[in-house]
Amino acid sequence: MANKILIANRGEIALRIIRACKELGMECVSVYSEADADSLPVKMADEAICIGSAHSEDSYLNMTNILSAAISTGCNAIHPGYGFLSENDQFAEWTAKCNLTFIGPSSKTIGLLSNKLNAKKIAMRYHIPTVPGSLEPVNSLEDAIRIANEIGYPLLLKAMEGGGGKGIQEIHNQQELHEHFDRVRLENKANFKKDGIFIEKWIANPHHIEIQLIRDYHNNIVSLGDRDCSIQRRKQKLVEESPSLFLNLDLRKQLTKDAVTLFEAVDYVGVGTVEFIVDNDFRYYFLEVNTRLQVEHPVTEMVTGVDIVREQIKIAFHQPLSIRQEDIHYQGVAIECRITAEDPLHDFLPSPGMIKNVIVPGGLGVRVDTHIYPNYVITPYYDSLLAKLIVWAPTRREAIRRMRWALEQFLIDGIQTNIELLYLLMHNPDFVRGTYDTLFLTKFIELVKENNHESII
Ligand code: ADP
Ligand code: ADP
Ligand code: MG
Repeated sequence: MANKILIANRGEIALRIIRACKELGMECVSVYSEADADSLPVKMADEAICIGSAHSEDSYLNMTNILSAAISTGCNAIHPGYGFLSENDQFAEWTAKCNLTFIGPSSKTIGLLSNKLNAKKIAMRYHIPTVPGSLEPVNSLEDAIRIANEIGYPLLLKAMEGGGGKGIQEIHNQQELHEHFDRVRLENKANFKKDGIFIEKWIANPHHIEIQLIRDYHNNIVSLGDRDCSIQRRKQKLVEESPSLFLNLDLRKQLTKDAVTLFEAVDYVGVGTVEFIVDNDFRYYFLEVNTRLQVEHPVTEMVTGVDIVREQIKIAFHQPLSIRQEDIHYQGVAIECRITAEDPLHDFLPSPGMIKNVIVPGGLGVRVDTHIYPNYVITPYYDSLLAKLIVWAPTRREAIRRMRWALEQFLIDGIQTNIELLYLLMHNPDFVRGTYDTLFLTKFIELVKENNHESII
């Protein structure tokens, strides 16, 4: 039987997956909510099927509707993309029970790793450094205070099943713990399928560094290198680059070794990312594993030449990896900017509305992954990501120059975007030198506000 893939996602990542399917000669089906009837994935897939109303719970998170759509359109596999159901072990299990291939790790592996505490415990078993903190969910304020006194302030309250920077609260002293504990716990109950919060020491001014791995059913594992994702707003990445300028050779080797150990320990099959934070003294700590394709995978594709989605699909169908570690030769530097429909100077307030016009940059070493087009309406229901602008160049300095020019060319008319902020960032001396950490962007925005920048591009 020919392979036919249902894409259980929307936006730019749905398009990215459609492109990979086309290149592999596979048919694909888009699912869409009533709010996305006019979206590009609907137009570009071989077939499209509506799975519910605009609210994610009724559509992109509705497992029964998605599985019914896959079966009724004759698909034999589901690609979950990122976000939504991509790290939901029950969805992976139900997909398999319906005799459909889940394009991702097994339900068991997702179950082991999607819970951050569980993942941490596995890492500890293999002597991978983890951030000091509670190893069980914290259920009462009394327990929280006791643990906080043991590990010391500042600390973080974290959702066990959080993601996209959601469900993390900084706590600087006992009074703040009193103020926030119950609220964070209640919000978690409401936001995440499996609730539970834990405490972690807050590591001062860390760098976010991650390792991209792929492993197939035949014990082949390949590292596709590292990414620095320290430019973050609200603990979510905004700019990513590969390779990291901060890592030295020894640390790069160590992080890769630990990431590989972890993958092998849980018999991980598929693509996935092991995230770490690294402090200014080069002490590193395991953070979590993302058991899915990541938003920033294109920067890795640009420096390795490996089509990650293509490999991911092939692995799911039990084919061996088409590359070996010795085939991977890193070339140049790639940077990605996430272009979002937000007002960065007003607390990243979402800016839905109709896009009146779009002009997309191009040229050698410029890649734009986007689902927007003129007259497309950005609804308030989903993530604010409009486009990923990725540039590649032989050196970091040239990549930054190319990114500046690409941002200058990128025109999105009708809604507020963060393009200007990214443009300014590409001129900031600390960014250009590469001396930035995860707290940098917040300070940078204050600086932009102080200088009261008028429209500059
Ligand atoms: P990355 O791929 O680098 O991890 P993000 O952290 O931004 O990127 O996550 C990608 C998308 O998935 C975002 O839209 C984010 O909101 C969503 N997401 C990821 N994990 C979760 C989660 N556990 N719960 C809800 N949304 C999530
Ligand atoms: P998510 O699942 O939302 O991606 P992560 O645990 O990966 O959550 O953390 C997201 C970001 O929050 C990190 O990249 C980092 O900037 C910050 N962070 C998380 N844990 C810590 C910590 N213990 N100390 C300092 N910063 C942290
Ligand atoms: Mg993370």
